[in-house]
Amino acid sequence: MGLKVRDILEELEKLAPTSLAEDWDNVGLLVGSPEAEVKGIYVCLDVDLTVLREAVDQGCNVILSHHPVIYKPLRQIRYDESQGELLSTAIEKKLHLIAAHTNYDNAVLGVSHQLALKIGLHKIQVLMPKEEKLYKLVVFVPEGHEEVVRKALGDAGAGHIGNYSHCTFASPGTGTFLPLEGTQPFIGSRGQLEKVAEARMETIVHHGILNRVLQAMLTAHPYEEVAYDLIPLANESQKGGLGCFGVLPEPKTLAEFANDLKEKLGVNGIKVAGEPNKPVEKIAVCGGAGKIALNRALALGVDVLVTGELGHHDAQFALQHGMALIDAGHFATESVALPFLVSYLKEQLNLDSAQVVLGKSEKDLWSYV
Ligand SMILES: [Zn+2]
Repeated sequence: MGLKVRDILEELEKLAPTSLAEDWDNVGLLVGSPEAEVKGIYVCLDVDLTVLREAVDQGCNVILSHHPVIYKPLRQIRYDESQGELLSTAIEKKLHLIAAHTNYDNAVLGVSHQLALKIGLHKIQVLMPKEEKLYKLVVFVPEGHEEVVRKALGDAGAGHIGNYSHCTFASPGTGTFLPLEGTQPFIGSRGQLEKVAEARMETIVHHGILNRVLQAMLTAHPYEEVAYDLIPLANESQKGGLGCFGVLPEPKTLAEFANDLKEKLGVNGIKVAGEPNKPVEKIAVCGGAGKIALNRALALGVDVLVTGELGHHDAQFALQHGMALIDAGHFATESVALPFLVSYLKEQLNLDSAQVVLGKSEKDLWSYV
């Protein structure tokens, strides 16, 4: 189909920028090559041997999972242990494994947004806006080389402000330097003080792509030693965040809402904490393990928080403060967001249903008896 793994990564970057991923996370292309040709894309929650087999059976060589196949740094890849077997099988079968984890959680149209849509919420907003760290990058470029450095910075993702990319500012000036013993200066000669017309070029860089941008800048810049400043900024970038909240088209009782939710998520059981007849209208959702959203949901006066992996003390805390809780499970509250990844990639990359496949074999590890 003439499509490369790189093209998938680029489209994912638009939907769920890697800069939105949490620091502890591991997202993007984890196994494989960006230059490889794509035969088909298999979308799933977790990667295991069954998923690898199914992907291959369905003619896919790219697996896009929500949970990363490599999470913590690896110390060894042992074929006699489960993760080593998994990775060696993926490599043997020339598969390319991509993860869109907390970057998809925090994306504006990400996991919780999809969950909110499934529930039928209106006026959906981000529950916990993410404050993204920004840096000002200032680099001094000799006259005549501005364009190549500017393009390298922009192509690597620097200078993204709202819907504008490649934003930079440059002002002319004079740089001085004295090449010392052992140098091979691009301009001037050893032992002689040089004065050079340079541009002071500045741009803004998101924390998540900092290394990539610096690398691109150093590669494009003609100087042996590049003079640049990297300055942390107090500006906040709020493009996404964890969880969502919104309102139901009309109020329901907690019991009605819970039954509806069960049906919409297609699950056999959910845990509900709260008075069944309590009217609910303002709903917060957080796909996956979302106890972190408790305080924020309470502060916003939400009637019920829907998430996964809640415990006794979470329920006690929420109920004491007048908020109901629904634990609909980690699996159900996240797998609900996978069909959107399939339709997004199909649309953006102009692919059909045989080329982007939603994994069918995965199911909740918990069952209700
Ligand atoms: Zn998860």
